[in-house]
Amino acid sequence: MMLQLVWQSRRILAPAIILAWLALAASLAQAIGKPDFKPGYNFYSPQEDVLLGKESSAQIDKQLPLLNDAGALQYLNGLGKRLVAFAPNNHPEYAWQFTIVNSAEINAFALPGGYIYVNRGVFDAAENEAQLAGVIAHESGHVVMRHGTHIASQAVVAQGGLAILTSILGQGGSLTSQLAQLGLGLGVDSLLLKNSRTAETQADEVGTYTLYQAGYDPRAMVEFFQIIARKYPQRTLQFFSDHPNPQNRIQDVDAEIEELGPPRGAKTDSPEFEGLKQHFAEIDPPPQQKGTPKMEAKKQSPPLPSENFIRYDGKKFTLNYPDNWRLQQEEDSVLLFPQGGMVTGAEGETAQAYGAAVSIYTPQQENWGLVDATQELIESMRQSNPQMHVLQQSGLNLHGNPAVSTLLQNDSPIEGQRETDHLVTVRQGDTVLTFIFIAPAGAFGSYAPAFDKILQSIDLARLR
Ligand SMILES: [Zn+2]
Repeated sequence: MMLQLVWQSRRILAPAIILAWLALAASLAQAIGKPDFKPGYNFYSPQEDVLLGKESSAQIDKQLPLLNDAGALQYLNGLGKRLVAFAPNNHPEYAWQFTIVNSAEINAFALPGGYIYVNRGVFDAAENEAQLAGVIAHESGHVVMRHGTHIASQAVVAQGGLAILTSILGQGGSLTSQLAQLGLGLGVDSLLLKNSRTAETQADEVGTYTLYQAGYDPRAMVEFFQIIARKYPQRTLQFFSDHPNPQNRIQDVDAEIEELGPPRGAKTDSPEFEGLKQHFAEIDPPPQQKGTPKMEAKKQSPPLPSENFIRYDGKKFTLNYPDNWRLQQEEDSVLLFPQGGMVTGAEGETAQAYGAAVSIYTPQQENWGLVDATQELIESMRQSNPQMHVLQQSGLNLHGNPAVSTLLQNDSPIEGQRETDHLVTVRQGDTVLTFIFIAPAGAFGSYAPAFDKILQSIDLARLR
């Protein structure tokens, strides 16, 4: 009851109280030691898990090849729904939607709110229905333990906790724009999908329990993970990168099974599963693909910048940016870009073709002036961009701070296109804070209003 009260009123409680309470709850959970299926701390509601999962799945459905096979989907959804009926911490609003990815890679993943993806390769590698059920039960464990939004909550705490939480909650932006602001992103590369070993252990515990309650051999899940790691090392790279192997996985599962007591059933296989394997062997094989598709260059241009802007509150500056852009925080830089704004360049490297990038440059010379330092920066950029040249340079006043504005032209990472870059430099102590606005030359005009709006929103007040 206390727990419910705390979480439901999280938006009016002082964050400091929440954080103190979290630390206490975590230490209590460790002291008890027994698996009690209690999710980690979370600033989101289960309803928000569903909203977030739904938006992520809409993106992922466009990024991955799906298998639209009515019979197979009916079987998978039937099996999945039968299983999750036995999962702990289930919420009635969870979507429980199971999708098949038409890929020979052995992989499966779960989005918040019950959107589960199982690759065709899993059906191929599973030796019986119980092993497939084990994969589903494990993935549903990530859902009911709410690992995705737990990661998002950890990001809130990691990024300065109190301030960022207050500022995010105060903005009233959409849930996905909040996540973008935390640098988590959606889609196949989202950090929401990167589970910790602790999360894996929890998903194993829930998965084993669910299998047991549903009358399957509860060893089938861990058995499957062992088989695929041994037999298909190349086809499981993504799986074990998203699902790192917990230590003592087998011993932990065995201990749990012992505690659960005599088996409720030991179902291993079904004629439906064997029939489906046969069916998959007869239809067209999955299309060839090189691993999981990253954010590839799309034929069409990214969506234009939204009129609605959201706030980024960094340590060194604040600015506003379109709410349909993603924010990616690197160690010393912040990248802001639309869907499709990052492309794969000629040498296979990831490069930004649209959006804005903010970073810090430390000049080599001593006692530098801003114009000289900017010149030095441009020379250093030219080393990796030999086709770059300056179109125009002028002074600029950035909220009372002297700045240098440089318009550049360069080769776009999109093949056969030129790009325009607007570089703005401003002194920040011993370093130069640099803002670069990037778009293909032909599209720069339609991005210029958004770029100007971002530029006008930049606040360096804290530097003075
Ligand atoms: Zn997992």
